[in-house]
Amino acid sequence: MITVRVPAKVNVQLGVGGLRADGFHDLANVFFAVALADEVTATPGEGVTLSCTGPDAASVPLDATNLAARAARLLAAHHGLADPGVHLHIAKAIPVAGGMAGGSADGAAALVACDALWGLDTPLETLLELAAELGSDVPFALLGGVALGRGRGEILEPLPVAGPFHWVFAVADGGLSTPAVFRECDRLREEAGTGSSDREVPTPDADPALLAALADGDPVALAAALANDLQAAALSLRPALADTLRAGTGAGALAALVSGSGPTCAFLTKDAESAAAVAEALIASGTCRTAHATHGPVPGAAVLAG
Ligand code: ATP
Repeated sequence: MITVRVPAKVNVQLGVGGLRADGFHDLANVFFAVALADEVTATPGEGVTLSCTGPDAASVPLDATNLAARAARLLAAHHGLADPGVHLHIAKAIPVAGGMAGGSADGAAALVACDALWGLDTPLETLLELAAELGSDVPFALLGGVALGRGRGEILEPLPVAGPFHWVFAVADGGLSTPAVFRECDRLREEAGTGSSDREVPTPDADPALLAALADGDPVALAAALANDLQAAALSLRPALADTLRAGTGAGALAALVSGSGPTCAFLTKDAESAAAVAEALIASGTCRTAHATHGPVPGAAVLAG
């Protein structure tokens, strides 16, 4: 039996370029791995089967579309295993469809867990390539830490960071579809008259002030540099998120932003004590389903000892 812990991510910068001819957007995506984590346990089985526990378990598909199952099959196919056998149990703590890449995290965890269970010893380089096939956010869940993602987000450059930074995540009722949020971003750009194609929107780049704040471990400077080009679109689709963001800053967070495509909201705080107080205030505010105080950066998908 192999158990892998895998972190959720928050995008401390999510710069979204124009819509490309292939339907994707160029991104300047600074991923940050936080200690809010799923655990995926692989045990020998017949075929690829799944189970899931946790508060959001009912929203997790247990069929072949689950990213953990797809990862297991992809790894088996890569090694020419005709009849892969594994049962994957997902202990889910990362909000589902919450903009924290929970499904991608489970995909990365399943790659690592099956690799260990089947004794394949696949090089990290190869696991990263398989991860990129599964989805844009999967390679980062393997690496963890802090990294700049270019292209669709899958071309990764690890970044220097001094931590820890303390965060609170406010979980909303129900999810938001990532493609729908990108479509809304394009629509809002058209409406504003700026155009939405990659010929009209400048290619985004990482903000030097943000990179310096990460390297210095300076939460006040990082708070000033946090940026998410999808935030307006997430707020347009879910206006109530503005109340959540206000409740967190009102309770003393240094800054608030929508996490990725939302609807989870992220709050950066000055220390662990402040994070606990902000989480408590958010829960009491009634503007979210629940809130978690956590920290990062943390490593990517890794086998738990024992
Ligand atoms: P991202 O931030 O990468 O856009 P997200 O955090 O918003 O993703 P996920 O939790 O990854 O969203 O789930 C998006 C959808 O993916 C779910 O609604 C579900 O149908 C599907 N899905 C597939 N595999 C999983 C998984 N292992 N866990 C959760 N959802 C999964």
